[in-house]
Amino acid sequence: MSWPTVHHLDCAPMHPVGGTPLVAHCLLVVTGSGLVLVDTGLGSADVCDPRRLGMFFRRTMRPTLDPSHTAFHQIQALGYDPYDVRDIVLTHLDLDHAGGLGDFPDARVHVMADEYRAAMRRDTRLDAGRYVTAQWGHGPQWVVHDTADSTWHGFAAARVLRSPDILLVPLPGHTRGHCAVAVQQPERWLLHAGDAYFFHGELDLRRPRCPRPVALHQRLVAENHGQRLMQLERLRDLRRADPRLIRIFSSHDAYEFAQLGAESVRPVR
Ligand SMILES: [Zn+2]
Repeated sequence: MSWPTVHHLDCAPMHPVGGTPLVAHCLLVVTGSGLVLVDTGLGSADVCDPRRLGMFFRRTMRPTLDPSHTAFHQIQALGYDPYDVRDIVLTHLDLDHAGGLGDFPDARVHVMADEYRAAMRRDTRLDAGRYVTAQWGHGPQWVVHDTADSTWHGFAAARVLRSPDILLVPLPGHTRGHCAVAVQQPERWLLHAGDAYFFHGELDLRRPRCPRPVALHQRLVAENHGQRLMQLERLRDLRRADPRLIRIFSSHDAYEFAQLGAESVRPVR
């Protein structure tokens, strides 16, 4: 098989009050049979009508609202056709991950069942704020992965695609159906850990650490804080076991994003 090219895209730069800049780390996986997007950041409709994101998110996270940051625009800028995005794989349905869905109305949207249910119900105050129904108002072609039908390095997992292997790896805690997404590469795996952690130091094996405001933010927005911490411990175990075979990174850490971008081979066009 030919191995896919993976592009790292920041689809929603954010400048939170009193914090360091954040990214919305998305992946564009170029396969022989189409494009796969892992998370979507914010989309064209969010940029056109930021009110739909809610005042709390806009005032605290202060996203840069510019069409050039949308996945749709960046895919075009890389020389691909956004209409070739056949599959979108979501770590979860928070507004800063699902905003671009409407830009790819014909794509299959893969999500874990627990996440889908939580987002459709929005039955807690936290869920009502974090899930923006307008982001899927166009009626996506959902592919809801009900049971974890595979395993991946000791984790239960749900297979999304084969060749290359792409799997949803449930890591609930941040939200009810929050997942990591594993993408197979020739000599290693990429593991997009979504919002399982926000700061790269949290996965440091010798001295795990996190700036206090970031730790507080994560506690506030976690659906289950204790469960999130447990998942973090599992990610550290994974890093300890296979540091070279699995490249773990999260959605919002600008340092990891810069590192991964530098490691990627960018095609000459
Ligand atoms: Zn997020």
